[in-house]
Amino acid sequence: MIQGTLLCTVRDCRSPLTPGEGVLRCPRGHCFDVARSGYVNLLQPQDKRSKQPGDSAQAVEARRRLHEAGFSAALRDAIGAMLGAGAEDRVLDAGCGEGFYLGSLASRTGFAAHGVDLSVPAIQSAAKRYPQCAWVVANADRFLPYPDGYFTHLMTITARSHGAEFRRVLQAGGRLLVAVPSPEDLMELRGHGKDRTKRVVEDFRERFRLVEQQRATTVADLEQGAVEDVLHTIYRPMRTQPVEAMRVTFSLDLLVFEAV
Ligand SMILES: [Zn+2]
Repeated sequence: MIQGTLLCTVRDCRSPLTPGEGVLRCPRGHCFDVARSGYVNLLQPQDKRSKQPGDSAQAVEARRRLHEAGFSAALRDAIGAMLGAGAEDRVLDAGCGEGFYLGSLASRTGFAAHGVDLSVPAIQSAAKRYPQCAWVVANADRFLPYPDGYFTHLMTITARSHGAEFRRVLQAGGRLLVAVPSPEDLMELRGHGKDRTKRVVEDFRERFRLVEQQRATTVADLEQGAVEDVLHTIYRPMRTQPVEAMRVTFSLDLLVFEAV
């Protein structure tokens, strides 16, 4: 479902798009097809570094199965509580993937939900699963196709960040939630990771003030198929040893900032 205002992504155009017959069009005549499932693809040729940018269909499906099995429910609940968005709010998920976090929080809370991702298979999957939200294929690293100050809340879950664009589309005092894998995330599969929180705070220091920080961790006993799915989501499906059922830790460092 396309709702609200989107901006044209043709280089330097940035005019508002208005809906027509199965398309969105800007006053200069740039035109984008709206898919039957309701999402719109605003990718420009320069955004497509590979033929299939972003997550592959296989990674999208693996991630969806893990979410549907409930392994991320505790993380989702922690994100929802820290985001603090209510029914009156307008929320953007930048790098939303197949839409689990945004879609399930929106159906619970009733906020206006907008998700952007570079991956066509991810956005297709999101639009089918969560039709009440607005889904857009675009390169969030380059330009977020929304007007200045459009959102009250923005979240980005283990995705790349673009501080200047995040600040531009957030209203003054708006909340930004950044989730990064904690050092414990998937440690049974890839060992202890690094702490990424200092780097995040440093990256956002000019435009955002850190107001809250918390680690959300959940442990799950995974069947062999689910372990394989996890490996697909981190692009490590090829292992010398066949995988076995095992206990796996999912863990995110959550940081909430206020736009200044
Ligand atoms: Zn245009």
